[in-house]
Amino acid sequence: MTARPFTATILGSPRVGPKRELKRAVEKYWAGRMDRTSLESVAATLRRDTWEALTVAGLDSVPVNTFSYYDQVLDTAVMVGALPPRFADVADELDRYFAAARGNDEIPPLEMTKWFDTNYHYLVPEIGAGLHFGLNAAKVLGELDEARAQKVPARPVIVGPITFLALSKAVDGGPAPIQRLPELVVVYGELLRLLGDRGVEWVQLDEPVLVTDVLDNAAELTEETYGLLGRLANRPAVFVSTYFGELTDALPALARTPVEAIGVDLVGGGLSALAAIPELADKLLVAGVVDGRNIWRTDLEAALGRLTMLSGCAGHVAVSTSCSTLHVPYSLDAEADLDPALRSWLAFGSEKVAEVVALARGLREGREAIADEVAASDAAIESRRADPRLNNGDVRSRISAITASGARRGPAGKRLVAQQARLELPPLPTTTIGSYPQTSAIRAARAELRAGTIDFAEYERRMKAEIADVIKLQEALDLDVLVHGEPERNDMVQYFAEQLDGFFATQNGWVQSYGSRCVRPPILYGDVARPKPMTVDWITYAQSLTSKPVKGMLTGPVTILAWSFVRDDQPLPDTAAQVALAIRDETVDLQAAGIAIIQVDEPALRELLPLRAKDKEAYLRWAVDAFRLATSGVADSTQIHTHLCYSEFGEIIGAIADLDADVTSIEAARSHMEVLADLNAAGFGNSVGPGVYDIHSPRVPGVEEMAASLREALKSVPAQRLWVNPDCGLKTRRTDEVTASLRNLVAAAHQVRVG
Ligand code: GLN
Ligand code: ZN
Repeated sequence: MTARPFTATILGSPRVGPKRELKRAVEKYWAGRMDRTSLESVAATLRRDTWEALTVAGLDSVPVNTFSYYDQVLDTAVMVGALPPRFADVADELDRYFAAARGNDEIPPLEMTKWFDTNYHYLVPEIGAGLHFGLNAAKVLGELDEARAQKVPARPVIVGPITFLALSKAVDGGPAPIQRLPELVVVYGELLRLLGDRGVEWVQLDEPVLVTDVLDNAAELTEETYGLLGRLANRPAVFVSTYFGELTDALPALARTPVEAIGVDLVGGGLSALAAIPELADKLLVAGVVDGRNIWRTDLEAALGRLTMLSGCAGHVAVSTSCSTLHVPYSLDAEADLDPALRSWLAFGSEKVAEVVALARGLREGREAIADEVAASDAAIESRRADPRLNNGDVRSRISAITASGARRGPAGKRLVAQQARLELPPLPTTTIGSYPQTSAIRAARAELRAGTIDFAEYERRMKAEIADVIKLQEALDLDVLVHGEPERNDMVQYFAEQLDGFFATQNGWVQSYGSRCVRPPILYGDVARPKPMTVDWITYAQSLTSKPVKGMLTGPVTILAWSFVRDDQPLPDTAAQVALAIRDETVDLQAAGIAIIQVDEPALRELLPLRAKDKEAYLRWAVDAFRLATSGVADSTQIHTHLCYSEFGEIIGAIADLDADVTSIEAARSHMEVLADLNAAGFGNSVGPGVYDIHSPRVPGVEEMAASLREALKSVPAQRLWVNPDCGLKTRRTDEVTASLRNLVAAAHQVRVG
């Protein structure tokens, strides 16, 4: 190999800024309150500080071109000239970029979807039949020049051509995007030549799609693509990085190509396949042994052992994170009052960099050279193992007892009879999904409580006033099943995490979700238990104001797991069962307080679905078990609802049926009720509320339109089991929009009821 092999790196890093500086700057720019020059200077400062920190920490190859004003897939679309023509009229380049990301008054944005199985969302490139790819390397070269001026050992990072096309969608009757690979490879070839001209030593091409089953000829495409790119003269050394799981047949295929380095995720995959590949002998293997997407401290002793074994399989070994640290917060330094034991168990972005550097040194100089680091890691692991909060005997024995007794609800038909007798609802009952608009008064009350300017009693008084308003509104609208409106919840997962043992909420652990949006996932570190009821006071207060049934509103175990950082010291299903038990306890208390309907939301059911087909069934089994554990503690006469949204349900439709909720409300307004036929085909015979209007848009749907949807739904579902509701919660809408839409929704239901 002619390029100098590097020894310590990460695959990418967060970019919103340790204090979310970029978020604030772009949002000001969008609102017209910051000019272009100031925005660019915030961005340049963030890039400079990031590179400097990584270089000073001791990485000998530093990822660049990982900065983004919005999204790295959109950046790649711009780089290959693949912005759809509808944006061409936006003259300014940056504004065109933001228009593609967010839309403007005239042009709808690109669609957004989940980045593999993470909580990051990317913009889906559209590849039309008439699209011609063409290289626009300005961003890559700009960041490269900046980094080099700063004397950073820069390695440009670019989404690879196979992944780019596999994640794109065809439009305007174009062929499947992946069929355009040969054309796109030419563009990547030009890019490599440009980088070669500049004397760039290494370039990283990200191909995470190779760890999934999305492409059925992944190995073949890999060998062709990287064979071609690898044979180009005058190019940098190519590092193909893969992450979010194990490479199977794409690994030997990649090894047969002339690329100089291959990155493998050793957190999501094992070592065994690597030993069997002779071609690795003259490659640099970039070993992702430090978890880039969870927040636990690495067991350095174990990681060093694995690295040492790998040394025998490859020409050189470099230490790396398993993926970009985009998915974890910047640094533990921002957490002032963290329990010291817990702090010692954690590694955020900058701590992971230190781990990589230590491991690289240990690999080079021997374990003794990092004896102190290994000792600290051992001590943390031992403290974590021995901590009583991670082993709550009571919780564990209760779960075994319930599972052993096989606690189940009665058959669905029997439940339906019991519930009809108790609830006396009209046919086609109307309801909503839970949240009502989060008004500025609600947000102000929360901020004041946090700042200490009001006490909890005052906060509670204001929330109850909100609840009373929402109940009054629903009665005026003549809805059949009411909700309390969730004013006391900002983020639903955080709301429950804050009240459960075993969770910890960070102060500044922000992670980019999409564009300028960040979330602060709670850390699920220990055994989960519910010290006291979490929602009963709010719901019973709401119920006291009306004679109509008020739905209790809970979040399901899978969704709570999906939106948290979850402990890695026991199987996920065990953790899910503990969360489920806490939710079950809450349902039992709600029932005892006289609540007749309880909804357990699982909007993230699809999100944790594994990337590989072979793992899907086991996941769906434990996800369903967890939901059933959470919901089977109540009487047959208590009606269990669930709610699902945000996804294509195709692959999980059978699991949705298996949840066996009495009523399932499901996003359908945009998919035109197709989901109902799918549910029928899966043998689902319980009640269902396909969303009849899209809450993601401010548009107020008309009575006729919703009545037509209901008539459409009645073709698949008999009236006795059809419910009428919006697509999702209403928290992001304005009160006037919600009032008008729901008035029409109720009118539509009435119209269809009489025939
Ligand atoms: N009950 C929640 C709400 O209405 C459900 C949220 C969701 O589906 N994401 O806001
Ligand atoms: Zn929803």
